[in-house]
Amino acid sequence: MSASPKSFGRKTIEVSLKPRDLMAKKQLVDIWSAKIITLFPGAFPGVLGESLTGRALKEHLWQLETIDLRPFGIGKHRNVDDTPAGGGAGMVLRADVVGPAIEEAQKNTTDNWPIIYLSPRGKPFTQAMAQEWSQADGVTLLCGRFEGVDERVLEHYNVEEVSLGDFVLTGGEIAAQAMIDATVRLIPGVLGNEASTEEESHSNGLLEHPQYTKPAEWQGRAIPEVLMSGHHGKIEKWRREMSEKITQERRPDMWDKR
Ligand code: SAH
Repeated sequence: MSASPKSFGRKTIEVSLKPRDLMAKKQLVDIWSAKIITLFPGAFPGVLGESLTGRALKEHLWQLETIDLRPFGIGKHRNVDDTPAGGGAGMVLRADVVGPAIEEAQKNTTDNWPIIYLSPRGKPFTQAMAQEWSQADGVTLLCGRFEGVDERVLEHYNVEEVSLGDFVLTGGEIAAQAMIDATVRLIPGVLGNEASTEEESHSNGLLEHPQYTKPAEWQGRAIPEVLMSGHHGKIEKWRREMSEKITQERRPDMWDKR
């Protein structure tokens, strides 16, 4: 028998970072930071740990901290919710639980730091908001569950309500991840230098033109000739026209607002 070690089909064992290892144990100053107040910290970084946002998290272009709501709960069972005053279905997150969690989250924040409650009653999230938040020092996002949070806590901390859209989710976590994704990709360096955020849908009041790549022909369909012409002026013009046509057809509301 040879003395050399036998391979069991696996050449190297890689110690890979688990998504949660990407999250900050210690917060660094001067880095754009998302603080998430949630009953489900295990849901983070979630999809934000993948691809470009995940790489940027690893490279400290931004950081993510979760504030677990459970330890702020009341009594032996750490209750975070109770029945709605006035009766009705479901449970409401208590002000004396959410309040202290907000206090904790707001440690080491600056004056330029929005506090947001993810809520279907909120102002609809837009690209302009993503721009604004990316230029703040960070954001704090409060994820609701059940029937939501006690109104007094929103008033007391002057929390702004923002919605992902006109539908109801079971919790704020998915909405928080969507909004952080849209915000973080606007932080310089996150997309790398290939991608431009200026010509995208919603950044210039228009939807984007169609995109194509190889092969030149697929299922009998060719790429529009102008894109293969190498004529930059003509390509630019075609893209602009398509962009306008698609916006007019699909989003007359956006077209009228230009
Ligand atoms: N009773 C509430 C809905 C609660 S849904 C109402 O009718 O307005 C539970 C939680 O999910 C909310 O507290 C909120 O944090 C989150 N959520 C639900 N839909 C959302 C949406 N469209 N955008 C952002 N957050 C949402």
